Amino acid sequence: MHTKPSPDLAGTPIGREAQALLKSCVHCGFCLPACPTYRVLGNELDSPRGRIYLIKQMVEGAPVTEATREHLDRCLTCRSCESACPSGVQYGRIIDLGRELIETRAPRPTLERAWRSALATVLSQRAVITPLLRVAQGVRGVLPPALRSKVPPRVKVGAKPTAQRTRRVVLLEGCVQPGLAPQINAAAARVLDRVGIATITANGESCCGALGHHLGFTERARAQVRANADVCTRLLDEGAEAIVSTASGCGVFVKDYGHFLRDDPAYAVKAARVSAEARDLCEVLSVEDLRKAGLVGSAKRGNVAWQAPCTLQHGQRSATAGKVEALLAAAGYELTPVASSHLCCGSAGTYSILQAGLSQELRTRKLETLLGGKPESIATANIGCLEHLRAASPVPVKHWVELVDEAMGG
Ligand code: SF4
Ligand code: SF4
Repeated sequence: MHTKPSPDLAGTPIGREAQALLKSCVHCGFCLPACPTYRVLGNELDSPRGRIYLIKQMVEGAPVTEATREHLDRCLTCRSCESACPSGVQYGRIIDLGRELIETRAPRPTLERAWRSALATVLSQRAVITPLLRVAQGVRGVLPPALRSKVPPRVKVGAKPTAQRTRRVVLLEGCVQPGLAPQINAAAARVLDRVGIATITANGESCCGALGHHLGFTERARAQVRANADVCTRLLDEGAEAIVSTASGCGVFVKDYGHFLRDDPAYAVKAARVSAEARDLCEVLSVEDLRKAGLVGSAKRGNVAWQAPCTLQHGQRSATAGKVEALLAAAGYELTPVASSHLCCGSAGTYSILQAGLSQELRTRKLETLLGGKPESIATANIGCLEHLRAASPVPVKHWVELVDEAMGG
């Protein structure tokens, strides 16, 4: 698709990037059936091809309206379209670029911007969100049902390993996960310990930046990425093997740090190094043979439906494909069939708050397919998906490493 940037963008980094990205789209439409919002709304402008066209028009200087912004806002950034596209279109980068442009071409009303800023601020600060959640958990029983469903009950975290190991990795904590589900990283630390790897936390770790970036606060996100690049680089220098995340939504963004800060002379190299050493937990564990190492037995442990988060199956697909499934099977779990497993559950960060209707419709559809094989539980790999599904699921929803940890004795 040929694009002629408007005079204010021609020759700029953003204009050049837009031209390079947009030219690979050949309008074939193969991506349309893979798009959750197109399947629900049936409007070409809520499809990948339609959104790409809207962004091309915006780059070329066509008038941008509130409607354009709404079509872009409805995109989940699930990148299912990228997996379906035969031409290798990097849709994730195109929508990022479109989102950056739309904030100046069609500015949001003050109240809406303030609400989005508040979300980006509160949800990205562990020191704020964790105490708030503890208070909500304390009064959970008297909360109205709609609010109660968003507050998970507190669960036991279990012991953290204390053995000294020569190998160690940085285990990122994230922002909302320590408050909502601290048991996930505790389980990850125990499982890693059993394969001889200690975990360290990144003192001074900031939000990964994905939240602010996707809400249009790019500069704020850059500051967070720089802070994390500093902390992680120091820990890599001190001998950490990798930067590991148990939340695929954060992990996919950390893997993109190098691209995100590519034009920052002070941070481009540092950020690229952090990205190169970033791993999802399943990548680290998949090279360990849990059965051969005697870490799990042959006991059957029940039926599980695997819900691969979009940030894992589309965002990190070449690195992670099939790995969680293999780990769960090795731990004795039988995976139930899940139809249309490429489709998003509707969580998508703050999407479940900002596009609540669409998000709930997608969750209903996703739960129907996940429950189709009559699983005893649902496993996933991202805190956002986990909480979104848990709030409406009749069966327990857990992070897959919790199940592996249980198989190893907890
Ligand atoms: S994004 Fe890919 S699949 Fe979709 S219309 Fe463009 S080339 Fe075709
Ligand atoms: S990222 Fe997901 S919601 Fe957005 S256009 Fe692609 S498939 Fe559709």
